[in-house]
Amino acid sequence: MTIKAIGYAASGKHAKLKPMQLERQDPLPNEVQIAVLYCGVCHSDIHQCENDWGNTVYPCMPGHEVVGRVVNKGSLVTKHAIGDLVGVGCMIDSCHECARCLAGDEQYCEGPNSWLATYNGPMKPAKQAKTGENMYGRDNTFGGYSDQIVVREDFVLKISAALPIEAAAPILCAGVTTYSPMKHWGVKAGSKVGVVGFGGLGDMAVKIARAMGAQVTVFTRDKDKVAEAHRLGAKSVVEGDTKAYEALEGHFDFIISTVPEEHEVDPFIPLLRHDGAFVAVGALAPMPRWNHMNVIMGRKTIAGSLIGSIAETQEVLDFCAEHRIAPDIQLIPIQEINEAYKYVKSGDVRFRYVIDAASLAE
Ligand code: NDP
Ligand code: ZN
Repeated sequence: MTIKAIGYAASGKHAKLKPMQLERQDPLPNEVQIAVLYCGVCHSDIHQCENDWGNTVYPCMPGHEVVGRVVNKGSLVTKHAIGDLVGVGCMIDSCHECARCLAGDEQYCEGPNSWLATYNGPMKPAKQAKTGENMYGRDNTFGGYSDQIVVREDFVLKISAALPIEAAAPILCAGVTTYSPMKHWGVKAGSKVGVVGFGGLGDMAVKIARAMGAQVTVFTRDKDKVAEAHRLGAKSVVEGDTKAYEALEGHFDFIISTVPEEHEVDPFIPLLRHDGAFVAVGALAPMPRWNHMNVIMGRKTIAGSLIGSIAETQEVLDFCAEHRIAPDIQLIPIQEINEAYKYVKSGDVRFRYVIDAASLAE
């Protein structure tokens, strides 16, 4: 049996997202069927629809910040009950056997097919995307810009009643992508944290770092965002303010860059203190070369980080519930998704669009 569903998908690199009928398989014994309530709009959705990473399989139905209710479940499901409020992030499966999976780091799965992405999965390298070869044994996955989704129970997260339902969705990607590296690089009370790019991920990075007790500085290109940074308890620096950069030399333990485009890393290296880390989560774009001497002096780290594990995703959801933090969102009907993409690309969204899935019925 199959489930009839509807969603929005892009049919090609420059195509607008349009309604698309699809059929989901009924849940297997270890899967749950979720009626989608809300889905966040991540900049990665735009990169993927526009084939920025060279691996997009069309039609592409994005959405990896999904919140909904369990409406059906397989016979072996024990973690979730019908009616539960649940979430789905960027992954819906992995190999479960490699060293990374056994260590609980499924996002770095070293199995032959890597992890299974919630949409545009399998994560096919560009070559396989071209040949259409399906290594994972599943067809291209369709994400949360739809009214129904079916997911293996251990990749489904619990959403605390303490979280505002519609604002919980972006925690599933923007939240965990900023939480995971902060945890890995030991951000704690008193740490000095810089956040470069104050968009969807930047908003969560500031809130999470503040809740961890860190002092936070926001680097933005946009003067209009300065007041918002202050509202969240951060200092802010507008790009190009050289005096402010000089005053921050040797200041930061950790800087996270959420910028979705190629950008200079060099100006940030002198701002790190001894053993400090500059971690890029944005873009997947090439970065200009940096001055190695500046990295060598002070044993600084320049690194990257990919989303977070399933355990970390649950941790950050619970962390946000406990600290009463949630993304700032703007709720939209799915019919406005193409305009929303334009605003995200121009940096004009405060700070995350969230699709109200009820609009799919209109
Ligand atoms: P947003 O567009 O919401 O935010 C990015 C912010 O970066 C903008 O608001 C803007 O902030 C700044 N910015 C945009 N363009 C430029 C530019 N050319 N130069 C300098 N700054 C710029 O995107 P998201 O927060 O949703 O995602 C950010 C990036 O992170 C994307 O590339 C996305 O694909 C990636 N990502 C990576 C993940 C991972 O696992 N590593 C997971 C999720 C997302 P301001 O106006 O303050 O300058
Ligand atoms: Zn995302």
